[in-house]
Amino acid sequence: MLKHSLWQATYLPPNLQEQLIRWARLLIFDKFWEGCDGLSVSKEMQWKVSAQAGLMVVGYPDWHFDKTATVLIYPRPYVARDSPVLLGGYTVGIEGESVRAGETGYRKPVILNWNDVQLGARDANDGHNLVIHEFAHQLDLINGPSADGLPPLPHNVDEVKWWESMKAELQAARAIVADGYRVLIGDYGLSEPSEFFAVSSELYFQQPHLLAEYHPTVYELLQIFYQIDLREYVPKQT
Ligand SMILES: [Zn+2]
Repeated sequence: MLKHSLWQATYLPPNLQEQLIRWARLLIFDKFWEGCDGLSVSKEMQWKVSAQAGLMVVGYPDWHFDKTATVLIYPRPYVARDSPVLLGGYTVGIEGESVRAGETGYRKPVILNWNDVQLGARDANDGHNLVIHEFAHQLDLINGPSADGLPPLPHNVDEVKWWESMKAELQAARAIVADGYRVLIGDYGLSEPSEFFAVSSELYFQQPHLLAEYHPTVYELLQIFYQIDLREYVPKQT
């Protein structure tokens, strides 16, 4: 099931695959899973979400996204109504305006859509991964209700320096765009530090070689946090 849920798993060594399988089973057991708009949540859906989220915390196997109890899955990008996330307080990560791909918030559910969950599980080449994006927001929110692009870092890392470096990279990317060029991280990732962290996290796991080539400092900073370097395992995309 792991390799059907996570394209990167094919390239990972057996010990990491086993760790991911154990972790995914725990997450599947631990969360409430709810389908929306008539969707019935299947094992395949639970595995695809859990395996992709698990890859992000390979460096922190004890982390189980404790601040979010529920995963909601729509069949496809959805039109927002009064979703639980919108009912007050610290909403972040609403991806899209009227039609949304997903969203989450501090102590709120992670809301996803099955179309995009499947694309992230099998597509190495477009750089997008909705599961990683929304769970990156959850990692950002572990250390407080403000989605500021600063996740909890290992104790030996200077948090302020790390955060200032990320924000400097955001400013540099914005300057490139202001000059009329495009950047790999894309416009949405430049909207604010929390989205910069979430979108660059998508690329970190989906297109590690490209992110390291085009945004080497961002790659290094994310490597300090995630503590896994997929370039060791995943071949360069052509
Ligand atoms: Zn977001």
